[in-house]
Amino acid sequence: MDRLVEFLAGACACFFGNVAAKLLSEKFTRKQLVEHNELLDDRARGQVLEACDVLIVGAGFAGMYMLHLARGLGLSAAVVETASGVGGTWFWNRYPGARCDVESMQYSYSFSEELQQEWHWSERYASQPEILAYANYVAKKFDLFRDMKFNTRVTSAVFQEEESRWLVSTDQGTQYRAKWCVMATGCLSAAQTPNIPGLETFKGGIYHTGNWPHEGIILSGQNVGVIGTGSSGIQVVPELAKQAKHLYVFQRTPNFSIPARNRPMDADYENSWKKNYRERRALARSMPAGILAQFGDKSALAVSAEERRREYERRWAAGGTSFMAAYPDLLRNAEANETAAEFVREKIRQAVENPTVAEPLVPVDHPIGAKRICADTSYFETFNRANVTLVDLRANPIRDISPDGIMAGSDFYELDSLVMATGFDAITGALSKIGVVGRQGFTLKEKWRDGPKTFLGLMSAGFPNLFIVTGPGSPSVLTNVIVAIEDNVKWIADCIAHILDVNADYIEAAASAEEAWMEQVRKTAEGTLYIQAKSWYLGGNVPGKPAVFMPYVGGLPNYQKICDEVAEDGYRGFDIGTRLKRTGRKMEAQGC
Ligand code: NAP
Repeated sequence: MDRLVEFLAGACACFFGNVAAKLLSEKFTRKQLVEHNELLDDRARGQVLEACDVLIVGAGFAGMYMLHLARGLGLSAAVVETASGVGGTWFWNRYPGARCDVESMQYSYSFSEELQQEWHWSERYASQPEILAYANYVAKKFDLFRDMKFNTRVTSAVFQEEESRWLVSTDQGTQYRAKWCVMATGCLSAAQTPNIPGLETFKGGIYHTGNWPHEGIILSGQNVGVIGTGSSGIQVVPELAKQAKHLYVFQRTPNFSIPARNRPMDADYENSWKKNYRERRALARSMPAGILAQFGDKSALAVSAEERRREYERRWAAGGTSFMAAYPDLLRNAEANETAAEFVREKIRQAVENPTVAEPLVPVDHPIGAKRICADTSYFETFNRANVTLVDLRANPIRDISPDGIMAGSDFYELDSLVMATGFDAITGALSKIGVVGRQGFTLKEKWRDGPKTFLGLMSAGFPNLFIVTGPGSPSVLTNVIVAIEDNVKWIADCIAHILDVNADYIEAAASAEEAWMEQVRKTAEGTLYIQAKSWYLGGNVPGKPAVFMPYVGGLPNYQKICDEVAEDGYRGFDIGTRLKRTGRKMEAQGC
């Protein structure tokens, strides 16, 4: 990467006034002007401005692969990452029991045959430490570390219209000037802590599953509270129950969960994958979630109750989230869904010995699968332990938290530590923390005030040369996200190559294409049961977040086909051109 130290301390005092005047005359917003002045202040303090072709935000699986492909195009690229290492969400989610719910033979990169042959997964579902080890192995193998800057948070990205460049600022003072900016910020990376009265007064340790202390913590002998019973809560509860003196599980909404039936990797199974990786990866990509699974082809209502039960029993015994693949209409038809939901409810009642404890654990307020279905190891059975108490917040809502514990209803729970398994500001959360300023001073935050708007989840009108990996409007979180990442990143790399080939300066989503796509995303979701749950897919877990169903539910193959066709058709729905004109189209006219 070219490194330019453009300004040295004290050398540009007279320059300040000129630039401010120039910026004003160019109708930059006050906000941009402030950011420019901050830049100049930084320069005056001797800060570094680095130049590269592609600036990538985030060193998770998306950022790592983007760096690899950008280099393959002969471009200079840099990755900026808040964490001190690679891995993205797997860097932060170090809570006991953290494990992937996609089988490890599939939850891995497919772009390198050598990589997929040489890496060995030790379990059916990989644990967080093993996934993190894999991420580090990949970064080392492809020599990625040398272009990564860790412990550095990107604070803003401002588009410089004159030069068609992104100016990306960080909390460490270093700034980057890049032609392309790729937001590889992840869908589940902004941990969400609810605003519970008195939380800040609690005198014990407070640990969020999505931001778990790296040094590890020992909770043995303690009274521990866990708030939240989504995928993270369902994984952490059985592990904490083994350590804690007493564990209190504060549950607002019970969730459906299928036993993961994790086990050590079977050598024959691993070999069968390694021998047939190419074919199996291709087959997986032809399936709605990009996961190779056995899909039923008949309606759940087209078979007898006995046949249905046999099928559900078979899938329950096999374990894992492909339970939902039993019948194609489980997420489309409420009656069909109810057959699967009732089967799982019955299993919960069987697993929990005390019916008074079992009943509040039975989910009744949403269709099965409408919230992300969980995969567990002895979650429901954990409530049979003498040292575990379920606190049903629907019957006894949390009133407040005091220095010594939680008051729920009329009961006080004395606690030494509190675990927040309260999820994420999903899909848009990490991006919204960055001040992204596009053409004519418009911010992404303003533009997405009523919900995110993108074309294919990849770009947003008004923000030229800014790509999002697995952005809102793409299938992202409804898939094996590594497959979705690989496809998005490959598309972005091909797109950049195309722009360079045609000697253009920029590509930008057209507002009309974006509007039509968001309408398609909305309509596709409306035909499903997904919208019947108050889930993080809809932003329902973050106060004030617009209720917009963010992922595209039309399936990965349909989505990829559309992306490929758009590219083959000369990037239909995108504007491609040379140097943007400041006097160009009005943002308002584009619905921004
Ligand atoms: P989540 O599914 O959003 O669950 C958050 C939990 O916190 C919910 O039970 C929620 O209750 C509760 N909660 C939030 N605010 C609360 C409050 N003020 N009072 C009481 N309860 C509150 O988050 P997550 O469990 O971290 O999972 C998020 C996603 O990450 C998953 O759906 C999955 O996609 C991914 N993930 C995957 C794995 C895996 O691969 N196995 C593991 C962990 C996470 P309500 O439901 O009532 O809002």
